[in-house]
Amino acid sequence: MAIETQSTQGLNADPAELEKFATLAHRWWDKTSEFKPLHAINPLRLNFIDELVSLNGKRVLDIGCGGGILSESMDEKGAIVTGIDLGDKALKVAQLHQLESGSKVDYRLISAEDLAGEQPESFDVVTCMEMLEHVPDPEAIVRACASLVKPGGSVFFSTINRNPKAYLFAVIGAEYVLKMLPKGTHEYQKFIKPSELSAWARHAGLDINQLRGMGYNPLTDHYSLGQDTSVNYLIHTIKPLR
Ligand code: SAH
Repeated sequence: MAIETQSTQGLNADPAELEKFATLAHRWWDKTSEFKPLHAINPLRLNFIDELVSLNGKRVLDIGCGGGILSESMDEKGAIVTGIDLGDKALKVAQLHQLESGSKVDYRLISAEDLAGEQPESFDVVTCMEMLEHVPDPEAIVRACASLVKPGGSVFFSTINRNPKAYLFAVIGAEYVLKMLPKGTHEYQKFIKPSELSAWARHAGLDINQLRGMGYNPLTDHYSLGQDTSVNYLIHTIKPLR
């Protein structure tokens, strides 16, 4: 449980992005708050991961873990989870929540790149969810993920596609019409096409196994996994055995 303050200078991080999450951090575990969508999609992504890698007993790294919604749920499935983030407020909230939940996630304030230097090929599973669209150089995070995972291990990414429909749903719909997210949560130009993410993953030595869309129906307030990757999507990649 090492949490220290770290400047973002020289790091692949955008201070304004970290500040956005710092302002909201105290509401991370409030399921009616700005984090409601993350709570709502969590069972879907957790099952997707668990079905593919069987989390029980696995060493898992959750990059950009925030307040620990996914990290804690993977711990509950029996994984040995490390959660890293560069937001110290979110990590403090995550640690406080563990006092209530009894979860045993090891939270650390460290960048993915630095941890890759410290502990290469140490994790059976690496998850990096809803985070790539908030960093200046997402491809460098993908490379760090590829070096952190053991050969034969899995890396999962989720992010937002970049096209007019994604702009309409993820920015206009979520931030302006439904007001599920604060205005300015997402910047369109930072969205990532599945083809771009797949190319970064392949260049980093990861094989693409599955691509899944994550859909939201505002009429039923229901999320589901499917083939439509036009807005939110998940990718499962595998680092080949040597
Ligand atoms: N992955 C979590 C939280 C997503 S919110 C989930 O899906 O439930 C995005 C998170 O990315 C925030 O916690 C923010 O602090 C973190 N983040 C933003 N830039 C980062 C960076 N460069 N390195 C690590 N974490 C970062």
